[in-house]
Amino acid sequence: MKKILFVASECSPFVKTGGLADVIGSLPLALKQSNGADVRVILPLYDEVAESYSEEFQYVARFHVTLGWREQEVSLYSYEYKGVIYYFIENNYYFTRKGIYGYYDDGERFVFFSHAVMAALAKLDFVPDVLHAHDWQAGLVVALANIEQPIEGLKTVFTIHNIKYQGVMPHSTFSDFFNLSGEHFSGFEWNGMINCMKSALFHADKITTVSPSYAEEILDPYYSEGLHPLLHERLEDLSGILNGIDTKEYNPLTDPNLHITYRDSRVKKSINKAFLQEKLGLSVDESIPLYIMVTRLTEQKGLHLIKRILPEFLQHNVQFILLGTGEAEFEAFFAELPHIFPDQVRSLLSFNEELARQMYASADFFLMPSQFEPCGLAQLIALQYKTVPIVRETGGLRDTVVPFNSVSGEGNGFSFANYNAHDLLHVLYDSLDVYQDAIQWRRLIKNVNKQKFDWQHSAEEYSQLYATVTK
Ligand code: ADP
Repeated sequence: MKKILFVASECSPFVKTGGLADVIGSLPLALKQSNGADVRVILPLYDEVAESYSEEFQYVARFHVTLGWREQEVSLYSYEYKGVIYYFIENNYYFTRKGIYGYYDDGERFVFFSHAVMAALAKLDFVPDVLHAHDWQAGLVVALANIEQPIEGLKTVFTIHNIKYQGVMPHSTFSDFFNLSGEHFSGFEWNGMINCMKSALFHADKITTVSPSYAEEILDPYYSEGLHPLLHERLEDLSGILNGIDTKEYNPLTDPNLHITYRDSRVKKSINKAFLQEKLGLSVDESIPLYIMVTRLTEQKGLHLIKRILPEFLQHNVQFILLGTGEAEFEAFFAELPHIFPDQVRSLLSFNEELARQMYASADFFLMPSQFEPCGLAQLIALQYKTVPIVRETGGLRDTVVPFNSVSGEGNGFSFANYNAHDLLHVLYDSLDVYQDAIQWRRLIKNVNKQKFDWQHSAEEYSQLYATVTK
């Protein structure tokens, strides 16, 4: 039985800002069910997690971690939740803060976390065969494990969930708080800066990313955020494994957040739609197509295209609801839109799991015209709630959404290739045509109802990867 330790900065249901948390919260159990692997997860103990869960934590150990001249105390806890053991690194100075990212010292916080994980390895009643680190916040763990060799034969896997965020810090931080001799500097340096993701790509035994298409795209300068030369060097060890979703958690038949649960019934789905329309003060009318977005408000998600064409599309009899938070430019745009289209648009500028589920359940269409999308889980959740995705053909969106072809009857959504606002507008009109054609709509929904994006297949691919790396 393989023993794997996941290292990550967020994990559902404890703390979530995006899809990474969904993956860390569901893949360990899927791996256990697929081949009996013992997968545990180590995370920072943020304030909001401590508030909700810490009463049930088991104390494991207390120790000190040094970063240059700084010395910090760590308490290590464990907690079993739904058959998976989670370890939490507690340190008040770095993690007892509101929210989880966005501080001036985020780099230092996750360097600290990485050193703390290395120190924790000696205190756990668990000796992993593989350290599997996720995204830049955990990237240094890969580098440190390779340099320090804390456990004989320990292997490392690093997964890129989003190459845009790399954890870049000034050059001087290396001597200031990395506790490493200068001979290792080149494994961390990129363009004159310290780069946490680079250090993981440089040191990991295997590198994965979260869809086959993104694994190809990041070899290209358009998508690589500057890291393509290194990825080309590591090509033999790079692969793309598509994310799944926890289909028990995201299940319209059992989801307690919904007004009324359903399996495939369009009638029951439309009761959810009427409930949401009424709740938000929109016209309660099944025949008006409802388009939604549930997203971080950041350029990546295609929001410049949305800004460009949404007012034009809203000239038609459609409704649009946005749920999201993020960059000021987009918050301002969505805050204003309901004032211009008071009968058609609602903007909910918050992070709200319950509302998100109600929206997935109520909508006819889910919009995700991303500029790039490593995998994307939101379109999978939409499909799971029998909502038709409209996406740009990039990364995992390309691997999961097949454009509907009204001649052959194949396809589960709508898509466009170029990052161009009018190409998006064009597929929005296509979606409207299909919605208004009862026969074509029924054919499309039949395909949507057949979709399955659970973890089974991908969990097997990860198991094979662990087997290769440890043999
Ligand atoms: P990313 O990880 O880039 O944000 P994904 O599509 O992989 O994008 O995952 C996004 C996850 O976060 C989904 O589970 C989505 O439902 C959720 N999400 C995004 N924004 C919100 C929000 N404002 N409220 C609730 N859930 C949200």
